[in-house]
Amino acid sequence: VRMRQAQRQMKGTKLQYLDQQPVLFSDVAGVPGAKEELMEVVDFFLKPQRFRRSGAKIPRGVLLCGPPGTGKTLLARAVAGEAGVAFLSLNASEFVEMFVGVGASRVRDLFAQARSLAPAIIFIDEIDAVGRTRGGAQGNDERDQTLNQMLSEMDGFQNSAQVIVMAATNRKDVLDPALIRPGRFDRIIYVGAPDFEGRIEVLKVHLGKPLPNGERRSYDISEEEFHELSFQFQRFSGAMLANIVNTAVILAGREGRTVIVYRDLTRALEEERLGPRREPYSDERQKRLAVQEAATALVCTLMPAIEPLTLVTIAPREKYPLGQTVLKVNEQRERTHMFTRRYLEEQLYTVLAGRAGEELIYGGDEVSTINQRRLVLARRIVSKLVVSNAMSDDPDLADRTISHPVRSGGRHLRQIVTKKHSYETLRVVDNEMGRLLNQSYADVKAMLERNRGCYDELIRSLMADSEQTLSGERVRAIVDQHACREDLDR
Ligand code: ADP
Repeated sequence: VRMRQAQRQMKGTKLQYLDQQPVLFSDVAGVPGAKEELMEVVDFFLKPQRFRRSGAKIPRGVLLCGPPGTGKTLLARAVAGEAGVAFLSLNASEFVEMFVGVGASRVRDLFAQARSLAPAIIFIDEIDAVGRTRGGAQGNDERDQTLNQMLSEMDGFQNSAQVIVMAATNRKDVLDPALIRPGRFDRIIYVGAPDFEGRIEVLKVHLGKPLPNGERRSYDISEEEFHELSFQFQRFSGAMLANIVNTAVILAGREGRTVIVYRDLTRALEEERLGPRREPYSDERQKRLAVQEAATALVCTLMPAIEPLTLVTIAPREKYPLGQTVLKVNEQRERTHMFTRRYLEEQLYTVLAGRAGEELIYGGDEVSTINQRRLVLARRIVSKLVVSNAMSDDPDLADRTISHPVRSGGRHLRQIVTKKHSYETLRVVDNEMGRLLNQSYADVKAMLERNRGCYDELIRSLMADSEQTLSGERVRAIVDQHACREDLDR
């Protein structure tokens, strides 16, 4: 590829449109299907004769659809890089922010430029900015003109033209149907966030990239650790993973290392999730946080249905100034939103643990407001159990709320909610919720009392840790060693 570029450079082609550092398919990971489909576009440039003779349909426009940060731009650049052709890119929103008539003429210029530089790829990012359905109530003349110009440019391509238009969007649904007609963007490729294996590949691609000074960075991470990381990075897009690696490199750099290790990546994840660190608190305040988070982490670890612990921290962070217990994301549960009674009851224990811990350590008169956020959650869980999902022993307390849409002021719809419970039933519901809450609180307090040695050890470790953070593994090790059998065998 570099040689082809060099040859073109010698012939005096304007190089500003060629990537100095061509992106290649090997730079894009976790999107095997998209790469395979785009190979054909590369073939079209590299073996045009054979392509024509084979009678294969000449690609004209390729639309990459998918959420932001999944590598659509990167893929387009990789096609240009692999084929060694010019790459002209523009964000469609730049067209529409201009004065009337300017957008259309920019489109004309762009296509003319591409023809003069051919073979070339035009890449239009966020094409929905110009490609929305024309006319309609919120019609926009400028945008319509720009879109018309783009359509007519694409229609005007000769078969011999060595120019392919690629575009990206995450709003295919709003695109004007005229754009995706044959001869225009008739190849649609979906690009999604990487799956389990894909995330590992993306991490490896970015971990293997050279440092700004050209030096190769390297990593010392086992396959097992990569699996663990992929598990923790569920739902991360390629761009988010690239970000994590960047942060990890900076963190390692602060310690004078160029070899990235597992811990750098998990620390980068902490920064991403919890925000950067803030000024440390006074010892007294720290102890309060430790009492709360250690109880939460302990109870989470003892609850079999609750997701495994990722980490627990009392280091004040931008997003969580009061410390946080972080659990692994359960992708499936998040997708289906299906919770069992057992899960919700265990969750209730975990959110009550902080307050129970405070009472145990400081005494009933000394509990503080620090647990506020979790107590609000507790109420919500109890209401889910008793009313919304009617999973308590009396399913008859099920929500009888009905909601029906009402028109108000023209097209605007409003949901009106009517409670159908009688006052009698409401009192029963209230009692049941109160009973459940008190019972769970008593249970969780007893659990902490039973495991007081383990609890104290967790508080101590959390406060003594230089980063005031314990990994899930460390908490599990302490719990395995100190918790009582009865709870471990649950
Ligand atoms: P999109 O165009 O889909 O919004 P980009 O291609 O601009 O996403 O991605 C931004 C950056 O994120 C890329 O430059 C790259 O560093 C990283 N990235 C995103 N997806 C991937 C991927 N599939 N493989 C490797 N890196 C990726």
